[in-house]
Amino acid sequence: MSQSKAETLISAVFRQEILGLSAYHVADATGFIKLDAMENPYQWPDDIKQSWLQMLKSCELNRYPDPEAKHVTRLIKEQDKIGSGFEIILGNGSDEIIQMLLMALPPEACVLSPHPSFVMYQQVSKSLGLDFINAPLLPDSFDLDLPAMLAAIAQHKPSIIFLAYPNNPTGNLFDAQAIKTIINAAPGLVVVDEAYAPFANASFMNELGNYANLLVMRTFSKLGLAGLRLGYLVGATAIINELNKIRLPYNINCLTQATVEFALQHSDIFVEQTQRICVERGLMYDQLVQIAGIRPFPSHANFILFKTPDHKAVDIFNAIKEQGVLIKNLSSQGGMLADCLRVTIGKPEENRAFLDALKKACC
Ligand SMILES: *Cc1c(COP(=O)(O)O)cnc(C)c1O
Repeated sequence: MSQSKAETLISAVFRQEILGLSAYHVADATGFIKLDAMENPYQWPDDIKQSWLQMLKSCELNRYPDPEAKHVTRLIKEQDKIGSGFEIILGNGSDEIIQMLLMALPPEACVLSPHPSFVMYQQVSKSLGLDFINAPLLPDSFDLDLPAMLAAIAQHKPSIIFLAYPNNPTGNLFDAQAIKTIINAAPGLVVVDEAYAPFANASFMNELGNYANLLVMRTFSKLGLAGLRLGYLVGATAIINELNKIRLPYNINCLTQATVEFALQHSDIFVEQTQRICVERGLMYDQLVQIAGIRPFPSHANFILFKTPDHKAVDIFNAIKEQGVLIKNLSSQGGMLADCLRVTIGKPEENRAFLDALKKACC
């Protein structure tokens, strides 16, 4: 089929918004020290890996997985002490949960999140043709601009508000009282996205009973199981029941179900690894502060956002990359993220390699 014929078909068949989007780009990390994607750098100890492989032998790959992932669901509800009246829904990553939530909205609905925040809220909203609104965070502190959020709520009456807690890419926790004010003012649902909960001493899980419109989202990705793709959303049973009508029946494959069950039985490993990452985060911050021209922002997540001297971010990013370390360049997003780069906390030797590369790049 000729190129032009394909293009004619595409514009005749696909929604106009899709044509205007770009696919979510992930940099090729082959051969690099990978500090770009908030992954846990640690693997499981060998003996644990062996018993995991042994356990996988009993997975029946010829059968469909449990469509409701009942066992995993029960274990997660126990772990998070989810009380009666609340349910959880699992997604192939929390990205899929964002998609399910937004697919449930009417076409004229509006979605709100502060800016800068996690890009998938906007990406998925746009791909579904929904109106996406954002309200800027406060410069420097990156905290919620509460009057701006409340004004956006009053003006646009968003069906869903997404609040990442801690926020990505800034790493801070928003003021909890401001979040509560937003939940009270919201005419629709408020999703508190706790992807980085393992690294923060804060959560809205205990607030679920206080607000009918609150949903809390978590993922196993940043904890150390990014390759499995499992996220979940906790909320009032009636709301979760509606979302289950949109969820594809076998969205959690049997290897993921079995592995997460196994992982939850060895959760001490993750506790130990996340503690190590939090210690390294403190050391990394202290080192970054001392580099002339670099301004790191305090973080409650497993990454640190930092500002470089004016118009130097791209050069510094490239110079670090040439030294074999891949981080994330956010400066192209402009606005509050102008001159900003983001580094994920890795193993001590990876962090050292990054800091050495940054120091060389800066002078
Ligand atoms: C990484 C991230 C997610 C997506 O996690 P997955 O479960 O891997 O899809 C969701 N929200 C925020 C804020 C994130 O940073």
